[in-house]
Amino acid sequence: MPDQLGAPIAAPLFERAAIIGVGLIGSSLARVIRRKGLAREIALHDSSDTVRGRLRELAIADHVADSAAGAVENADLVILCAPVGAMGEIAREIGPRLKAGAIVSDVGSVKSSILSAVAPHLPASVHFIPAHPVAGTEQSGPDAGFASLFLNRWTILTPPEGADPKAVALLTAFWKNTGAHVEAMAPGHHDLVLAITSHVPHLIAYNIVGTAADLEEVTQSEVIKFSAGGFRDFTRIAASDPIMWRDIFLNNKDAVLEMLGRFSEDLTALQRMIRREDGEGLEKLFTRTRAIRRSIIDQGQETAAPDFGRRPKDD
Ligand code: NAP
Repeated sequence: MPDQLGAPIAAPLFERAAIIGVGLIGSSLARVIRRKGLAREIALHDSSDTVRGRLRELAIADHVADSAAGAVENADLVILCAPVGAMGEIAREIGPRLKAGAIVSDVGSVKSSILSAVAPHLPASVHFIPAHPVAGTEQSGPDAGFASLFLNRWTILTPPEGADPKAVALLTAFWKNTGAHVEAMAPGHHDLVLAITSHVPHLIAYNIVGTAADLEEVTQSEVIKFSAGGFRDFTRIAASDPIMWRDIFLNNKDAVLEMLGRFSEDLTALQRMIRREDGEGLEKLFTRTRAIRRSIIDQGQETAAPDFGRRPKDD
């Protein structure tokens, strides 16, 4: 089967790429940068000794630095891939060591709070362009990453006002070469869109799995045994990294609460339809929601495969 990522590019876009925080997303980026030749050299840093040890074994980069400041030395592309709550502290450490003209970006799932946590620590000589690849799995750590994670997924850039168009174009080219589609939007709008497409669905999954675990009249073994009825699909989302999701809810509080308000109103309307035995209303809604899933499949953001298999076998 031909490699869907395609051949390496003719010349690297960057001399040295540094990735800080090397779990699922950071290690996937390192792998695709190497596979596509997007940077001549790759330097990694993770705060965990165990992860750094594993990265040396995996050999997916040229350098594994013991400090973030060491990794960004001479880098012309720096991507912060740690949990959202850690970004400000990393920026404070690397700020004085950044090379003039470097592009600094991130992959955080929330954008407004990262802009205010990171930007104050960066020198005026670098270009800060936050980004969010809307791609992932429920797994964490450097072993979970794979080069084609971003293929056919969207990466959202949220360039601050006055960002250098050349730097934005270069970062756009970088993401396109990972196989991603790229779109730019304002950070606040990003946070609202992601609240409904990602953050609230995760909260609902955490909630329903938590509720099932606490039920007294249905045993845990029954919940597990009969999970194929729908519950199982929520457990995949509810198995996502606790630290990452804690940080997302704390850092996208307003947008999540706004969307949750809307969700609760609609849930109340559904409750009413069931109570009043409004079959027509229920059928109308379920037909509309089925069409949304069809559009997601048509646009290549999901397969129609019933097992929801997401990880390609060839990686
Ligand atoms: P992950 O697999 O848990 O990896 C994060 C890594 O960062 C861990 O190895 C962690 O080490 C390390 N780290 C924590 N604090 C650090 C610090 N101060 N300096 C350096 N390294 C640090 O998480 P992930 O799924 O790759 O997520 C990383 C980022 O991507 C998050 O901001 C998340 O919002 C964003 N994102 C995730 C997804 C997804 O689906 N997973 C999708 C899009 C964007 P420890 O384990 O020791 O804490």
